[in-house]
Amino acid sequence: MNSFSLDFSFLEEGFTAQDILEQKINESSLSDDKDAFYVADLGDIVKKHIRWLKALPRVTPFYAVKCNDSKAIVTTIANLGAGFDCASKAEIQFVQNIGVQPERIIYANPCKQISEIKYAASCGVEKMTFDSEGELIKVAKNHPNAKLVLRIATDDCKAMCQLSVKFGATLKTSRLLLERAKELNIDVIGVSFHVGSDSRDPQQTFVQAISDARCVFDMGAELGFNIHLLDIGGGFPGSKNSRLNFEEVISVINLTLDKYFPANSGVQIIAEPGRYYVASAFTLAVNVIAKKVMLTEQTGSHDEDDASKKTLMYYVNDGIHGSFNLITRFRMEMGIVRKKKSKPDEKLYSSSIWGPTCDSDDRIIEQCDLPELEVGDWILFENMGAYTVVASSTFNGFPRPTLHFVMSRPHWQLMHTIQEHGTFPEVPELNDVHVSCVSKNRMELNSIACIV
Ligand SMILES: *Cc1c(COP(=O)(O)O)cnc(C)c1O
Repeated sequence: MNSFSLDFSFLEEGFTAQDILEQKINESSLSDDKDAFYVADLGDIVKKHIRWLKALPRVTPFYAVKCNDSKAIVTTIANLGAGFDCASKAEIQFVQNIGVQPERIIYANPCKQISEIKYAASCGVEKMTFDSEGELIKVAKNHPNAKLVLRIATDDCKAMCQLSVKFGATLKTSRLLLERAKELNIDVIGVSFHVGSDSRDPQQTFVQAISDARCVFDMGAELGFNIHLLDIGGGFPGSKNSRLNFEEVISVINLTLDKYFPANSGVQIIAEPGRYYVASAFTLAVNVIAKKVMLTEQTGSHDEDDASKKTLMYYVNDGIHGSFNLITRFRMEMGIVRKKKSKPDEKLYSSSIWGPTCDSDDRIIEQCDLPELEVGDWILFENMGAYTVVASSTFNGFPRPTLHFVMSRPHWQLMHTIQEHGTFPEVPELNDVHVSCVSKNRMELNSIACIV
């Protein structure tokens, strides 16, 4: 396999992505350049891929490009040998320009514009999803060689982002669709679903959906189709220390797959993870650009206790029209505060955090207890790789944060080993490579985290 070219900085030996972030913050204290920025660790993507291969050996990942389409991310994942879930002509073009072959792409959007179906046909992308009769008719006319994958609905009521309100056929409809596909002489090769993104409890949904998929496989067989592809979609957790443990979720999936689609069934299994691959790789640093102090009670005296009666409003240089566009809708965790000057035992004040635009909805955190910050202090948001940079606008003239991609040499070598051999070597936990190194300057910084 050829190597896809990649743009990033190597981490010096003994340095972590976190150190680079601290370094940039320290440098910024000497100048007025305090623009928001990201540090993204491509090594984290490599680690996630290995964790996937170990945990779900039967399931080939097709990364969902919409989650984060940074070239460095997509290229790293291409080098690792994964496939891609694309939902539009532009995403297909992007992935193919990097050098990915059409067999490694699934066009996983059940409702497509005709010109885009024709585009997929012209560049050899054959696997595509559908969930309606109208789509079958469009595909029969514009891409008769397509290999269709029937998207079924799931019970995703526990997910933050419920996709089955928009996509997916019921079992009853699935039978009608298969009959119609037979009449139109279109090949249906697979079944797909999505349990919903950012679910609190995806296990049950996975179990039900895999068993429903089995029903559709059987219906297909009755009608003379050779359905041999199962696509279990996305919805796998991707944050560091997420409430939901990836291994817990997938242990249930593995058991269910073995029950309904045993290894000897000859069924190829793929998935479309998005946030799993990228969430934890990105940390966003935003700067406090303005501050307002509001007095909640007027007592006239100036003693210490009264000071706690104030609340604070902080304005930072990224917001809901930028990186937080899609994610504040669901929930937001407060970041880690980096103050230039800090005292021990700082008092905490009720605070809110707002984006830089003139829109009054542009608020990131409604309420959170923080030590008092000053203009020029930083707030770090971790786990910011998924559905952030892809959804940001420059509304009101505020620029998108710059992205700094880094990777350590051991991770770079590991990526190439995986690329050459298709498997990963048994490596000691790469997490431990850097533990001995602590940035000198970190001692000066005060960090507190609070969860809203
Ligand atoms: C968004 C999406 C994904 C990725 O979902 P995650 O929850 O980020 O893993 C996968 N498949 C389809 C069809 C999607 O729309």
